[in-house]
Amino acid sequence: MSKQPATAASDPYITVIGLEVHVQLQTQTKLFCGCSTRFGSPPNTQVCPTCLGLPGSLPVMNRLAFDLAVRAALALNCKIAPFTKWDRKNYFYPDLPKGYQISQYDLPFSSDGHLEVIDPKGAFSRKVDIIRVHLEEDAGKSMHDEAAGTADTRIDLNRAGTPLCEIVSQPDLRSPQEARGWLNELKLLLVYLGVSDCNMQEGSLRVDANVNLHIPLPGEGGAEGRIAKTPIVEIKNMNSFRSVERALIYEAARQWEEWQATKVEMGKMPKQTRGWDDPAGITRPQRQKEESSDYRYFPEPDLVPVTVSDAEIATARAAMGDPPTVLRAALAEKWKISAYDADVLVNQGRDLVAWYEDLATRVGEGKVASNWMQQDVLRTLNERGGTIAEFPVTPEQVADIIGRVQKGDFDTSRGREIFAEVLTSGKAVADVVASMGIAAVSDDDLVALCQELLAANPKIVADVKGGKEQAAAGLIGQAKKKNPNANPGKVRQMCLDLIKALP
Ligand code: ZN
Ligand code: MN
Repeated sequence: MSKQPATAASDPYITVIGLEVHVQLQTQTKLFCGCSTRFGSPPNTQVCPTCLGLPGSLPVMNRLAFDLAVRAALALNCKIAPFTKWDRKNYFYPDLPKGYQISQYDLPFSSDGHLEVIDPKGAFSRKVDIIRVHLEEDAGKSMHDEAAGTADTRIDLNRAGTPLCEIVSQPDLRSPQEARGWLNELKLLLVYLGVSDCNMQEGSLRVDANVNLHIPLPGEGGAEGRIAKTPIVEIKNMNSFRSVERALIYEAARQWEEWQATKVEMGKMPKQTRGWDDPAGITRPQRQKEESSDYRYFPEPDLVPVTVSDAEIATARAAMGDPPTVLRAALAEKWKISAYDADVLVNQGRDLVAWYEDLATRVGEGKVASNWMQQDVLRTLNERGGTIAEFPVTPEQVADIIGRVQKGDFDTSRGREIFAEVLTSGKAVADVVASMGIAAVSDDDLVALCQELLAANPKIVADVKGGKEQAAAGLIGQAKKKNPNANPGKVRQMCLDLIKALP
């Protein structure tokens, strides 16, 4: 099967994608009991009668989880319902001890929002409508431990009852690349809001994608044609955005091939569920998806409905802080950097933006600080791993190096070497400068170097003598080759002085 990079204008179809995202909220305790939500504890150590679904236990809602969900929904431009309730979604699965999940069915706490994504390189820009955001509890985890040499499946219920926000988009996305870009923007927003850590390795953010093709058909006898739609496929439970993109690229191509062979349209076949096999790079059919009637939803009798007042909405709004879109614009304006630069910085998170602003304030030039941030700090950070908080070089030290470059003590490439040395040795900038011999070029050495340069460049000397002072720039590069420690600013001034003193 041919794999295509993404939906291109030349494709004979439009790829139509909607996403369903489950994100774990950043609470200390579960949604309906006091058990810890900490990740990585020994199996079944964070459970109680309520999250185990034992008879007689009663759920009590965690209001913090609800408030975080409201904050997320507001940032996604959703309407908050003044009255919302809980429902039981019944299904049988070993990691669901109660035999139902407490979720929200016909009265979700929020609906009708949108989130826009703009690719900074201009590849796409898309406003995606959000149908609903609701709150529900997570299930436990089944571990099919084939590596242990048994066919056993073991169950860990530590995750059962963890609060989840489910975000359901309209099928507004038009390519796998857009879908990935939108997910990145959504994740960034949720992290900025403090709603979730969105740690995908730990399963804090999981994605289901709905995809089908819209195929324009030619009309007969010059009549206008119609659009054929392929059956919708839902790809379940992906926990990396790269997987989402690859799965969608694969699935669009697969549906196109199937369409050409069968011409089966949407409605002639039920919605199909497929799983993404990442190592194999293909989707495989799974069970047929239940219709909502199969879940036998009914109102949860053990929980009271929730009301949300205007005052509570105002409090949640105040706790939101600026979303990434606002921060990008503010950063670009304040520090006079491009939209692209602001995007790179904001996409790294709040701590990195603070680090950048500290550096920019010390340097006094946003663009210079942004260049150093991207070319040196960020690149090194990506190589080393870890967070900006753990980065061994401080904004003060980088500002010190930049200040010396601006004074003309050395040029940027030499500055980079100093940065690298400060990074690995942990020494102070001044000590590194001294140990590299940069400050040690004596006045006598400087005079000797400049005289040598003048003797070798009679044309430049004549030009400068004739009033073209800028011609002296040609001497700096040569000086650097002869003695990399010589201060370019001092070389320039000394050469000019020597030329003026010539008869
Ligand atoms: Zn519990
Ligand atoms: Mn769900």
